[in-house]
Amino acid sequence: MNILRKQAFRVWKIFGKNKEFPKIVADRGTFYNGRYLSYSQGKDIRLARNQRNIITLMHEITHALGFEFHNKKFVDMEFSILEHMFKKNRGELELTAGLFGVER
Ligand SMILES: [Zn+2]
Repeated sequence: MNILRKQAFRVWKIFGKNKEFPKIVADRGTFYNGRYLSYSQGKDIRLARNQRNIITLMHEITHALGFEFHNKKFVDMEFSILEHMFKKNRGELELTAGLFGVER
């Protein structure tokens, strides 16, 4: 969790600007469709046991940045963060995610 928090902080310094850094905690998660999922609520990010990884965290960070719904703006922000994290260009990321050429 400490490594994840450090990575989140690095990203937050760039994308979070002056917003308050969220609290990131290990949690049971929320039960949905037969399994426990991570979620963020206000200034709290809660990572479920099997989802304590950088990809899930960056997804929840995107929510914590104020992007509530999984719409185009959300995906654009999430990709900007991942692009920064992994030093990959967007085309490569979209290809890997299977989103290449998909209208969003
Ligand atoms: Zn989400």
